Amino acid sequence: MKTKLIVERSISGHMGTSVPDLDVPERAVNKLIPEKYLRSTPPSLPEVSEPEVVRHYVELSNKNHHVDKDLYPLGSCTMKYNPKINDWTASALAESHPYQPESLSQGVLSVYYDLEQQLCAITGMQAFTLQPAAGSQGELVGVLLMRKYHELKGNDKDTILIPDAAHGTNPASVAMAGYKMLEVKSSPKGLVDLDDFQAKINDRVAGFMLTNPNTLGLFEENISKISALIHAVDGLMYMDGANMNAMLGIARPADMGFDITHLNLHKTFSTPHGGGGPGSGPIGVTEKLAEYLPRPRVELLDGNYHLKYDYPDSIGRVHGFYGNFGILIRAWTYIRMLGPDGLLDVSKVAITNANYLMHKLKDVFELAYDRTCMHEFVLSAQAQKEQGVNALQIAKRLLDFGFHSPTMYFPLIVKEALMIEPTESENKETMDRFIDVMKQIAEEVKTNPELLQTAPHNTPVGRVDETHANRNLNVHW
Ligand SMILES: *Cc1c(COP(=O)(O)O)cnc(C)c1O
Repeated sequence: MKTKLIVERSISGHMGTSVPDLDVPERAVNKLIPEKYLRSTPPSLPEVSEPEVVRHYVELSNKNHHVDKDLYPLGSCTMKYNPKINDWTASALAESHPYQPESLSQGVLSVYYDLEQQLCAITGMQAFTLQPAAGSQGELVGVLLMRKYHELKGNDKDTILIPDAAHGTNPASVAMAGYKMLEVKSSPKGLVDLDDFQAKINDRVAGFMLTNPNTLGLFEENISKISALIHAVDGLMYMDGANMNAMLGIARPADMGFDITHLNLHKTFSTPHGGGGPGSGPIGVTEKLAEYLPRPRVELLDGNYHLKYDYPDSIGRVHGFYGNFGILIRAWTYIRMLGPDGLLDVSKVAITNANYLMHKLKDVFELAYDRTCMHEFVLSAQAQKEQGVNALQIAKRLLDFGFHSPTMYFPLIVKEALMIEPTESENKETMDRFIDVMKQIAEEVKTNPELLQTAPHNTPVGRVDETHANRNLNVHW
């Protein structure tokens, strides 16, 4: 029997706080607010005590799946453990206010400054902006930087190349920034098809947006050659850095010829993720683009940090204040706690874990590209589909065993794709449990397909109508 999803906890007269009596004349307050904005009735808010609120949220979190509960192998999203010390640091500075004067914000500004320096060291870039609130907003900023570069140089360009394996936000960002997008094919090895790529390069090409390692979890072997070809037509190289978890301390985008990269702090750098944000997608650039970054930028002048606005060629501000501070300080804590050696270990373990899972599963499900992978790999459930069970149904069945599903149906070039990313957070025992469950599911496809077709069976909510939920979003209480 399914439990009722939400119990009404509001009881008239219950309260979680006690507010002191008003100690100024009521009418004096009211005079400041125009009559038409005054409330005639109190707002309708839930009436609950503090323990009731806590129980409500704990109950909701138990009904949901999250990384504190069990494995969350959602490929490309890097659902790694979020260390609790990140929250400790963030709460220490939570009371700071963006309108505080700079003289009282030196600690906050020093975090911004140092985080930018750390991200520069990790990527080899020359400057960073921390403003973008997500990887996708970072992409838009990156393409706007490309536009600025070409405009100021008088370059007449209108096209950006994108591989067919790209994440959907890439073409969306290109279109939003006013460029045409031209798709480049993947080779049988799962990398950029060089012949197709070369055939599409011409003077109209403003740049190339590439995810590396790509969305199949494969490192782009020809990256230096690709960068040289793009630079030869004065194009710019943009790295979608969502997969940076595979390269920390190992390889730097700037050394591969990239001019711009975003990083998803909520992926690689362990800040909370999902549920709609907030996220953070800083953008790093090489020297030739630094002047165009959004302003203000933090600078260190005579031992004092301050926000500098005087960048006449800046593309302008892209976020209120200076980015999602609560997220930035968590990522900064993570980087500072691990240090260079710790970050290198992150990527080494992430890669080892992914290869372990891949080798254990490739006899059970078809492997889309049978090569050593980086931090993730893609299986195809095409053979299972031919037996009546598709990737979606396998994903739903996993929920019955307390695992989140892998990413499904992406990248688009793999039929019935299941993209698996264990991250470095998982130990061998957890991965072995997952392997056993995947094997059991593969057996069930043969012996009891109906069990999969009707899954999940053990979750508080069965199958939701995702299209309806997307089109008719209702986020109200
Ligand atoms: C997650 C992701 C993005 C978009 O990043 P958001 O922070 O979710 O906006 C872009 N590209 C790839 C490959 C991704 O995995």
